[in-house]
Amino acid sequence: MSILKVARMGHPVLRSKARPLERSEIRTAPVQRLIDDMLDTMSEYHGVGLAAPQVHEGLRLFVAMLDSGEDDKGKENESKDEPFAIINPEITVVGQEIVEDWEGCLSIPDVRGKVPRAKEIKVRAFDRFGERIELSAHGFPARVIQHETDHLDGMLFFDRMRTFDTLTFLEEYSRYWRKEED
Ligand code: ZN
Repeated sequence: MSILKVARMGHPVLRSKARPLERSEIRTAPVQRLIDDMLDTMSEYHGVGLAAPQVHEGLRLFVAMLDSGEDDKGKENESKDEPFAIINPEITVVGQEIVEDWEGCLSIPDVRGKVPRAKEIKVRAFDRFGERIELSAHGFPARVIQHETDHLDGMLFFDRMRTFDTLTFLEEYSRYWRKEED
């Protein structure tokens, strides 16, 4: 396993639409190695999600930490605490509630901004074993899934912001904005 180079904003791979994986492709050694390397890379850079285009691979695949810590739905929610891979995700928004909250991105280092996202979603996808999965997520895990899925369509979180008023460097975020959260 190894740490991969992360593409930064401006690299065209981040603005390209990624291609779906064939189900038969998922269990091949190169794809499994890519997933392991992406998990290592996400962990190395303390990310909560990392999409394949961010490591220069135009595939509809991401890894994420879908910690259900704030979850109030209990067992009904299938979000996992372990990082795992989601392949060819298809998101369905549940309800109409939109929540605005902070996001950052390993491809846009040291910047934060508030991004509106659907509060609750369902996701159909393959897992890394090529099995069909269906997840329900709301709150933070739902936000991570929407952010990562956007990467597969060449979108960055800036594109989703309503205004850029909250766009801030990490240092200024710590100084002026973090208190707002507690
Ligand atoms: Zn990102």
